[in-house]
Formats: sequence, C-alpha cells, structure tokens
Amino acid sequence: MEQNMKNSSVKVADTLILGGGIAGLEAALNLANTGHQVVIVEKDLSIGGRMIHLSKVFPTLDCSACITTPKVSEASRHPGIHIQVNTGAKKLAFDAKGHWHVHVQTEPRFVNESLCTGCQDCERACPVVVKDEYQYNLVGRKVAYIPFSIASPRIAAIDIENCILCGACEKACVPGAIDFSQEPVQTEWIVKSVIIASGFTLFDPDQIERYGGGKFKNVVTAMQMERQLVPTRPFNTVLRPGDGKIPDKVAYVLCAGSRDGTVGNPICSQICCMYSIKQAQLILGALPMADVTVYYLHIRSFGKGFDEFYQQAKKMDVSFIKGKIGKISELENGDLMLRYEDIASGKIKEAKHDMVVLSVGILANRDIEKISGLENLELDPFHYLKQRQEMSNPFKTNLPGIFMAGTASGPMDIPDSILSAGAVSAMVTKYNKGFVESIINSLTISSWNE
Ligand SMILES: Cc1cc2nc3c(=O)[nH]c(=O)nc-3n(C[C@H](O)[C@H](O)[C@H](O)COP(=O)(O)OP(=O)(O)OC[C@H]3O[C@@H](n4cnc5c(N)ncnc54)[C@H](O)[C@@H]3O)c2cc1C
Ligand code: SF4
Ligand code: SF4
Repeated sequence: MEQNMKNSSVKVADTLILGGGIAGLEAALNLANTGHQVVIVEKDLSIGGRMIHLSKVFPTLDCSACITTPKVSEASRHPGIHIQVNTGAKKLAFDAKGHWHVHVQTEPRFVNESLCTGCQDCERACPVVVKDEYQYNLVGRKVAYIPFSIASPRIAAIDIENCILCGACEKACVPGAIDFSQEPVQTEWIVKSVIIASGFTLFDPDQIERYGGGKFKNVVTAMQMERQLVPTRPFNTVLRPGDGKIPDKVAYVLCAGSRDGTVGNPICSQICCMYSIKQAQLILGALPMADVTVYYLHIRSFGKGFDEFYQQAKKMDVSFIKGKIGKISELENGDLMLRYEDIASGKIKEAKHDMVVLSVGILANRDIEKISGLENLELDPFHYLKQRQEMSNPFKTNLPGIFMAGTASGPMDIPDSILSAGAVSAMVTKYNKGFVESIINSLTISSWNE
C-alpha cells in the first residue's frame, strides 16, 4: 500500500536520480534496463538538461536533439522509470537500516497534467509576454506556455510570478486544464541509493566588467549563439540582437570566466574551446560570407577527433589569434572594438567586429548545498562534488549510497558525462541488490509502479 496524505505520499524505489540531463537519463535507463526501479527528480519543467537545447555536437556535428530526444522519450515511457518534473529535493535523511529518505516537493504548474493536450490555445490567448529563458532571453514567451517545442512532458505551465490573472487562458482551454488552485505536493521517497546528476551552471557574463558587463547588446553568450544555430532557433538565421543586422565579422572570446582567478573561477571549463570551434563552423554554414575570428590563450583539443576538428575549422578559414582580450568597447553603431595583446608579435592591437560571442565558462551547480541533510557531503574547492577516491572510485561521494554522474563532479563534455553515468550505474546496480523487495516486505509500502 502506498501511504497517502493530503498533498503528500511515501513511495519506494531502488534509486533516486537528482537531475534529468543526459547523465541522469543515461544512468536511469541503464538501471531500469537491469530491473531497478528509478525515480528522476528534475527541477525544470522538462527533462533533457542542457543538451536538449544545443545545436550540433563536437566533433561529429551530429544533431544534439536527435541524440537526446530518443533517450528522453525512452525514459518517459519506461515502466521502470518514474519522472517528477518541476520538483526539487528539500531534505535527505539516512536511517539505521541504510536507506535514504528523500523528501521532494513538486511545485504547481497550474495546469492539470492529465487534461492538458499541449494544444497551446492558452499560449495564444495569454496577453502577457516575458523573456523566454529557454531561448536564453533572445525573444519573448507568453506567461501561459509550453516550455519549448520538444519539451518532455509537452504540457503547458503558468508562470504565476508574471500572471495578471486575467483568465484568458482558462476561457481558451477547451479541456478545462487550467487549475489555479494547485498547491505544492510533497513526496517522501525511500531509496537505497541516490545519484546526484544535477549538472552545471553557466558563468554570468555580467560579472566581467571589461567585456561590457552584460550591457552591450551585440555581445552574446555562447549559449545564445547555440540557440541561434538550432533548427528551432528564434530567428531564421544568425542575427545580432541589438539591431537585427546579419553579422559580417564575428569574434569569439575564449576563457570568458574560466582560468581567471580575478572572477573567482581559476579552472578550465574543458568544453569552451571545442564548442567555440563547433559554432564557428556552423556560423560559416549559416553565413558563408562572414569572417569568424577566435581569440584564445590555448586551444585545448584533447579528445578523440578534436584536433582534426580544430584543423578542419582552420581549413574553413576560421581565424585563430593567440591573444587575451583586455577590453571590449561599444561603438555608436553597435559594433565592438576589441583590444588585445597579440602574443605572436608581442604588440597591443585593436580589431573591430560587429558581433562578439563570449565563450563563457561553466560553474558548479550549488543547489545541492541548499538541501537539508547534505551538510556533510564533501565538495572540492570549486564546489563540485568531491570524488571519494578520484583515481580508483571517481563516482562515489563520501556519504554511503550517494553517487554522482556527469558534470556534477566537474566540467566535462557529453561523451564523458554518458561514460560516467554508465560507470556509476554499474556500481549502483550492485549496491541496490534486492532493495525494493526487502523494503516492501518489511514496510508494507508498495513500489510506485505496482
Ligand atoms: C554553449 C554550450 C555548448 C556545448 N556544446 C557541447 C558539444 O557540442 N558537445 C559536447 O560534448 N558537450 C557540449 N556542451 C557540454 C554539455 O552541455 C554537457 O557536457 C552536458 O550537458 C552535461 O550533462 P549533465 O547531465 O551532467 O548536466 P546538465 O545538462 O546540466 O543536466 C543537469 C540537469 O539537472 C537538473 N537540475 C539541476 N539542479 C537540480 C536540482 N537541485 N534538483 C533537480 N534537478 C536539478 C537541471 O535542470 C538539468 O536538467 C556544451 C555546453 C555549453 C554550455
Ligand atoms: S492548458 Fe489547455 S489550452 Fe493550454 S496547452 Fe494545455 S490543453 Fe491546451
Ligand atoms: S490568467 Fe495569466 S496565464 Fe492566463 S492568460 Fe491571463 S496572464 Fe496569461
């Protein structure tokens, strides 16, 4: 029997995975395919993590969404995987029997999930427009909205913070799915193991004053450029956001917020060189007449096929200039003047570009530090999860039954995130052995899929 109270219930599974990005999904599928019952707790309105929003992937230029969406849909339909989106972990407690009790809270989306058909009539009727976080603020979205076209689940939500309660969405919704009475729902999960796969956050470019501190309209982040290069892009081409002009001279500034102690992030983000080289090639595909220049300190093309990918960009006429950008200034027409030290000649030089992309670094997602009961979870000096034995056992934390996958433990690309998820699932398979059966017998609580 599942224990239910008003807006709260107790359920059991083998493993709870915190984060439904590529690492969390891969671990969930591996575990579920070997008979384990898995719950994915995802704080966003959709699973898929950062990868579902990317254009193509280095070094193969495969379509990112085409790799992610089959995993997303397999996980969504898998009888061994239960997914809770719009949900965060509030508290973890370890009991004397070696079980984790994970208290999670699902926030209201003000739409009845079982009635919503994803028709978007509410979106069309809603009169309020705010910045679209899924298009990295390049365009607007409605307050009643489907998060993005390939969101899973594809169910509307009401952004209640910005809602004026005009009722237009309610009138437009034929199935009557809008429900302003929804409240947060609590669930307590009793599990044997927890995998933290909560990923990374992006460095905020507003912190780099010398690059305009987020004030120059034609200085964008790599994630904003990534969105301009996907098939579901906000504009039908690459544009500079300041005035909608198609850029002729695009500059990439590498290590923006990485390997830089002055902005509090002295480590290498590992992915920015390669995603910049990828984007430079994709821009030349979209705008064949454009000049693309990459300003770099070192190009770290260390993976399989990466150096060949770098050489391919050079053959496509992408310019690479070894030099640290000291300052970016905005000209009256929105163009940008870049002042840099040209390391080859030892001279200070200036170059004009009409669009600049900051290859921003990645940072640890510090959400985990806010969860009650995880005060003793060890972190490394950069706030990523500390691997208990970095060389021999890189997926275990210092707490029993708590594992990690993907970028929660440090910067890494997609293949490495998937590899780490594979390795951790093998370890967790052994750790979980016989858990659900034993706990059901002892507690008379049913598993969620019975
Ligand atoms: C601009 C850019 C371009 C890139 N291009 C490439 C590329 O071409 N090739 C490549 O290999 N890599 C690329 N990457 C790197 C790639 O995005 C990462 O390697 C990959 O997304 C890591 O997956 P992850 O599952 O560890 O983390 P994420 O993708 O960050 O997923 C983590 C998930 O956890 C959820 N979450 C976070 N906190 C919580 C919480 N407290 N509770 C519940 N859920 C939570 C998040 O919402 C998210 O869904 C790029 C990155 C960027 C920024
Ligand atoms: S809430 Fe209603 S109108 Fe909006 S997408 Fe769902 S079914 Fe359609
Ligand atoms: S009630 Fe809120 S979400 Fe619905 S149409 Fe009005 S502003 Fe939009």
